[in-house]
Amino acid sequence: MADTEKCIILGSGCAGLTAAVYAARGTLEPLVFEGAEPGGQLSLTSVVENFPGFPDGIGGLDLIESIKRQAQRFGARFRYGVVKHIDFAERPFRLEIEDETEPVLAHSVIIASGARARTLDLPGEQELWGRGLSSCATCDGAFFKQKRVVVVGGGDSAMEDAIYLTKFASEVHVVHRRDKLRASQIMQDRALHNAQIHFHWNRVPARFERDGAGKLSGLVAKATDGTAEESIACDGVFYAIGHIPNTDMVGDALPRDAAGYLMADGVVSKIPGVFIAGDVSDHRYQQAVTAAGTGCAAAMEAEDWLQAEGLLGR
Ligand SMILES: Cc1cc2nc3c(=O)[nH]c(=O)nc-3n(C[C@H](O)[C@H](O)[C@H](O)COP(=O)(O)OP(=O)(O)OC[C@H]3O[C@@H](n4cnc5c(N)ncnc54)[C@H](O)[C@@H]3O)c2cc1C
Repeated sequence: MADTEKCIILGSGCAGLTAAVYAARGTLEPLVFEGAEPGGQLSLTSVVENFPGFPDGIGGLDLIESIKRQAQRFGARFRYGVVKHIDFAERPFRLEIEDETEPVLAHSVIIASGARARTLDLPGEQELWGRGLSSCATCDGAFFKQKRVVVVGGGDSAMEDAIYLTKFASEVHVVHRRDKLRASQIMQDRALHNAQIHFHWNRVPARFERDGAGKLSGLVAKATDGTAEESIACDGVFYAIGHIPNTDMVGDALPRDAAGYLMADGVVSKIPGVFIAGDVSDHRYQQAVTAAGTGCAAAMEAEDWLQAEGLLGR
């Protein structure tokens, strides 16, 4: 069996990569498992306009590749591979990797496995993702100035997104599968009294419409009782139907909140030597810069912990 790693990082999104920069500079010689989506969610988007330091914006993939190169410059190592299970029962921790027979051992682990937006599996979703279809109003709303957008959902996030989008869009249409909202009363009141927001009750998205150039031009919503279809002309569609944190590999070893996000004290988990960063434990902000911030914090905590345990060999 190979030597025990000082620090293994799960995930190569903003959180995992930033953790890798800090861990590598801190001589933790981190090994990053990139998971099934190398680069994470940000690599799916075209332009990022709100990451500090890029006044003209930067491509999502460019940003991710830059952080990865920065981590590699300080010696971080990267491996394609999905961590299937982590056994926290004994130290060093034992990580099982999909399609590999040999487990990998680690003194410390940073879990930065992110979250994925819930989707509807409509035809064309993959191609339109980041090109008219989004799950992040804060990230992509500004691209829809004076355009028409649809928000799918009826909870607090959907209402927050709809209200936020009225800052940019000329019209916001909410498609909701019930005849009343699930959102808190105050959010309902705000949304229902906003003249820019139009509600399409008892409707579920059925398919996207595109113009001759393939650009998103509308969403067809069908009535939940199957009686009618309605075409809503729009330039953008925002799914606000929740996210699923990627936590399968930890089983029940770590506590989660009601929505399934990992819970920690800041970035420090209840298991000594295990740290948590990014969207996997954040249902509130879910931004590249917050994920990067907690990635930094997790690596610094890991370094302190390894040092205190005498595992850094300094
Ligand atoms: C379309 C879109 C546009 C966005 N635009 C912006 C924007 O403009 N500005 C902004 O600030 N934010 C934006 N965001 C949000 C931002 O991308 C996320 O907040 C950020 O990517 C979270 O980073 P993360 O590292 O926590 O997780 P993620 O980016 O989700 O990365 C998770 C990583 O973990 C890996 N992984 C998962 N499971 C395992 C496993 N079992 N083993 C090993 N690895 C695993 C995955 O392969 C992936 O590499 C956008 C998101 C989307 C979807």
